[in-house]
Amino acid sequence: MKAKEIFPDPKRIRRKLLGWYDGHRRRLPWRETRDPYAIWISEIMLQQTQVKTVVPYYLRFLERFPTVETLAHAPLGEVLKTWENLGYYARVRNLHKAAGEIAEQHGGRIPDNREEITRLPGIGRYTAGAILSIAFGRVVPAVDGNVRRVISRLFEITESVDDEETRERIEALVQTLVPKRDPGRFNQALMELGAVRCTPKSPSCPACPLQDDCRARAQGLAHRLPVRGKKKTVPHREVVAAVISDGKGRILIVQRPACGLLGSLWKFPGGILNPREAREEGLKRIVRDELGIGIGVGSPLAAVKHAYTHFRITLTAFSCTLLEGSPAGPQWRWAGTGESEALPFSSADRRIARSVAPPLGH
Ligand code: SF4
Repeated sequence: MKAKEIFPDPKRIRRKLLGWYDGHRRRLPWRETRDPYAIWISEIMLQQTQVKTVVPYYLRFLERFPTVETLAHAPLGEVLKTWENLGYYARVRNLHKAAGEIAEQHGGRIPDNREEITRLPGIGRYTAGAILSIAFGRVVPAVDGNVRRVISRLFEITESVDDEETRERIEALVQTLVPKRDPGRFNQALMELGAVRCTPKSPSCPACPLQDDCRARAQGLAHRLPVRGKKKTVPHREVVAAVISDGKGRILIVQRPACGLLGSLWKFPGGILNPREAREEGLKRIVRDELGIGIGVGSPLAAVKHAYTHFRITLTAFSCTLLEGSPAGPQWRWAGTGESEALPFSSADRRIARSVAPPLGH
C-alpha cells in the first residue's frame, strides 16, 4: 500500500510542538532567563558540548562574570581558567573579545539586530538567531544540528544537509514555521525535540508530538535521514612533552601563543613530531627551538589520547633533564606546588600534569 502523502501544516506543527514542549521540556538554568548576556553564554557553551556538562560551567561562569562588563574587564587568563576542560577554547577567546567590543562600541548592551550581532567574534547565524529570538523576541530561525535533523525528517529532505543549498532551504522552511508570538520558545522547542525525541540514531517516533505530520515517518525513512556528506578521515598526530624539574619541586611550563588552537593556555614544553621522527630526538629538537635549551630525554611517564575537531593526538610525556642553557622565549615559568592549578591548561595537558607530577596537578 502506498504511504499517504503528508504536507506538514505550520499552524498544526506549532500547536503540537509548543504543547509538547510546555509539558516535557527539561528545566535548564538558561531557560529561566531572557537576559541576552546569559543566553549568549549558554549558546556558546552548548556548541559542541553536552547539556549536562555545560550546566555547572554556566552557573560558575555567570557567578564569576555576571555581566558583559565584568567579562570584558577580566584578564583573559582568568576567563580561560573558568572555562578549563570545557574545550574548544576559540569559543571563550571570542567571547572575551566580543564582550570587549560590546562594552566599548555598544555601551555594554548586546545588539538586538542580525547585522550588528553577527559582526561580533564567534556569533554566527545560529547563535545570532537563538539570541535574537529568545532574548529579543525577533521572528528569526535558529537552526542548529538538532533542528536540521528534525526538519529534514519532517519534510523528507533527501539532499545532503551538509550542502549549503540544503541548509538555506531548511532555514527558509523554519522561517515559515516560527510564530510571531514567542518565537524563541518555538525555536527552543524545535531544538528540544531534536535533542530528546528526534535523536540521530533512534528517533522516538511513537512518542513524538509531530508523528502525524512527519513525512519521513510515513515513508519509513526516519532512520535514513538526514543525509550527510562523506565523513573526512581525521588525521592523527604524535605529540611529545618534556617534564623538566628544577630540583626544587618546580616544573617548567610554557604559555602557548595567543592565537591558534588552545591559544594562551599553559602546557609542558614540546609539540608535534615530524612524520616518522623518533620521539626522543624530536622532543630535543622541539624544546631547543621553543626555549633554546638542551635536554636529556629519559623514560616515558604518561600518555594520553585526545580528539579535537579536525585531528586526534597521542600526547606522550617524558621525564627530562636540563643539560644546557636557560629557558628563553616569550612566556615560561617554573611552576611550584599548586601554582599550575591557578593557570589554565588544556584537558590533555592537565591529565599529564596530574599523572606525572602530583604536586603540580593538585
Ligand atoms: S516522527 Fe520521528 S522522525 Fe518525525 S520528527 Fe518525530 S521523532 Fe523525528
